[in-house]
Amino acid sequence: MRSSVFRCTALELLTLDAPAPSTVATAGPKLIGCGVPTSPKRAVCEGCARPPVVCVCAHVKPMKTRTRVLILQHPRERHVPINTARLARLSLPDAILRRAVDFETDEVVTDALTGRDGGPPPYLLFPGPNAIDLAQERPPGPITLVVLDGTWWQAGKLLRRNPRLRALPQLRLAPVTPSRYRIRREPHLHCVATIEAIALALRALEGDGGEEEEARYAALLAPFDAMVEHQLSFSTGVRDARHLRAAIARGPRAERRVHVPGLEALRAAGDRLVVVHGEANAWPVRVPGHPVPEIVHWLAWRPSTGQTFEAVVKPRAALAPSAPVQLRMGAATLAAGEAWGDFRARWEAFCGEDDVLCAWGHFPTGTLEREEIRVPRARLDARIAANALLGARIGSAEECAQRLEAAGRLEPAADAMAVAPGRGGARLEALRRIVTALLRAPDAPARVARRAAPAQPGGVSP
Ligand SMILES: [Zn+2]
Repeated sequence: MRSSVFRCTALELLTLDAPAPSTVATAGPKLIGCGVPTSPKRAVCEGCARPPVVCVCAHVKPMKTRTRVLILQHPRERHVPINTARLARLSLPDAILRRAVDFETDEVVTDALTGRDGGPPPYLLFPGPNAIDLAQERPPGPITLVVLDGTWWQAGKLLRRNPRLRALPQLRLAPVTPSRYRIRREPHLHCVATIEAIALALRALEGDGGEEEEARYAALLAPFDAMVEHQLSFSTGVRDARHLRAAIARGPRAERRVHVPGLEALRAAGDRLVVVHGEANAWPVRVPGHPVPEIVHWLAWRPSTGQTFEAVVKPRAALAPSAPVQLRMGAATLAAGEAWGDFRARWEAFCGEDDVLCAWGHFPTGTLEREEIRVPRARLDARIAANALLGARIGSAEECAQRLEAAGRLEPAADAMAVAPGRGGARLEALRRIVTALLRAPDAPARVARRAAPAQPGGVSP
């Protein structure tokens, strides 16, 4: 029984490279290659929830702590293949793991947050502006350490939906080393996986700086390190093979260095750089007396901190009939958006007067600028820089990201669940990857070789 599980897993890994994903997604038992039937759900270890070949339970050393750890997990995080909150729960038998978006009705969480269960006072691990820096001071006595498990978007959502969480005093970490978590790309080097954040916080709260203590917290990360190694040894193998095939297909080519306009300014902006994208309720111009376009979905990302901003804004004019389809966001979702005044207050708290806005073209910032709202004057156009790098005129950020990716210039995409909803979410994610590539490009990067654009499904080319 066990060996058949092992063989099936290996076969499934081999089929990952197969060109037709639709055959992988069929429901019900199926036959792969050698005729070994596999169930649609892969067998996983009951402890770490990983496939048996990459089980990391042998690395888990349960650990007692004075601090009580309460992990609040966004429901989508549960489906992430590498679920580090689960690992933390294995290593810390007293930790509590709860999963929801709204914790107001969760009695275990409510009891812990209000102190009704007699536990130590709760502190939220979150880098808000008034957070206590754990490198500078410790709260007196043992505490309940509340940790949010999810992406930046998800953590922001948990905070918005749970007033009790928002009201907690906050603690923050300044991790010295970038994450060991090299598989699932984090928005910024300062972001760490949940289990790393917990280990760092426990060390700051309880450690005495001695070698023994250091070893204790390092042991907490042993299963996590093992998991990263397993995953990396697989993914780099696949990626290398793909790059090699692409390089053979391209053949030899002379590299041409290009000047990328705006690249210096993009880098000089430093922590003032804010990447933005906006989607508008825009009527076709042919409609007589059509309302002026207005922003209804606004997204931003600050590369220096990884902080994100998202607002779905309730349309003030009649909704253009094509908007829900184009924006990939239902009319009801838009109608339930926040009031303009609330959006403006949140945005002006996120974006400073001296910030530098970087968008794809001028439409998003130009549309927002018509309103009474803060839109800093310093602007950068990522489209000009990216098109210079590609030596082509590319219309959309998504297509540009695809071309850069085909040329091996982009890091892997975020998993779909880490991206904000709708076309706006997809576009900000494309822009985020493009700007990251631009920030990392050498001063005079080689122009991406021009090749015939891959045929579009259905034979339509933009
Ligand atoms: Zn296991």
